[in-house]
Amino acid sequence: MPNVGATVGKFEVAEIVIIRSASSRRLDPVTGDGWLAAGDSASRFDPLSSQGIVKALRSGIFASYAISDLLERGDHDGLERYSRYVLEEFKSYSEIRAYNASKLANLLFALELQRRAAVHRVPLSSVAAHPGFSATGLFVDPEGVGANRIVRTLGPPLAKVFVQSPAAAAQSILYAASVAPPGSYTGPQRLRETRGPVGPAKVSRLVRDGALARRLWSVSEDLTGFRYPWPGNP
Ligand SMILES: Cc1cc2nc3c(=O)[nH]c(=O)nc-3n(C[C@H](O)[C@H](O)[C@H](O)COP(=O)(O)OP(=O)(O)OC[C@H]3O[C@@H](n4cnc5c(N)ncnc54)[C@H](O)[C@@H]3O)c2cc1C
Repeated sequence: MPNVGATVGKFEVAEIVIIRSASSRRLDPVTGDGWLAAGDSASRFDPLSSQGIVKALRSGIFASYAISDLLERGDHDGLERYSRYVLEEFKSYSEIRAYNASKLANLLFALELQRRAAVHRVPLSSVAAHPGFSATGLFVDPEGVGANRIVRTLGPPLAKVFVQSPAAAAQSILYAASVAPPGSYTGPQRLRETRGPVGPAKVSRLVRDGALARRLWSVSEDLTGFRYPWPGNP
């Protein structure tokens, strides 16, 4: 990607980049003899859900009830109730729903950016792409889906047979970055878009919903306080 190379070529990474998983996890047990865990140490949600801070404060409040039950009344049931609360809260949080919503938002943004660029006659090209299903370290990461022993054991051999390589998965991103038309969405074409040669990816009714995209755009501008400085509309 020559343009990216030209843009970032002059810069160097100042420090070694440490990558840590921020996937959703729950501590089990979450209480013990004279201790309990609260906030992210008790359970954490994917940062994309934007629920971590309120959840941490909430669990701190419930933890304080359990602690005062124990210290003031010698009531150990408070710890048991607290454990159940953390478990129920984690079960009711749908990681998949948050993940899907974030993907939908990405696509809505990509297409809305292209629409706005066309209206303002800005010659930018906004494209979207997905890699399909790729045999990366996803299955063996003990902090990710590899936390499940069965997935960790069976994932890599099965992936070799059924899932495409990371190099093949990168094709749709390269295609989108180089030749895909503005406002397009690219992905592998075979087996429900999990693998194969690249081409136009399927776009759901929600992704095509211009009113939804406009609303997402304006809510995002309000929440971030950032307005896109279109020419003639600073
Ligand atoms: C990239 C990213 C983006 C996020 N975005 C959002 C968002 O938009 N909205 C949202 O609500 N949530 C978001 N979250 C989640 C949110 O930040 C956490 O859920 C929340 O901060 C948890 O609060 P906490 O007090 O439990 O833990 P933390 O905020 O992690 O606080 C724990 C503190 O304990 C300290 N500590 C650790 N070990 C020790 C030790 N041995 N001795 C003394 N101190 C120690 C740590 O340094 C830290 O300061 C995001 C998280 C990440 C990683």
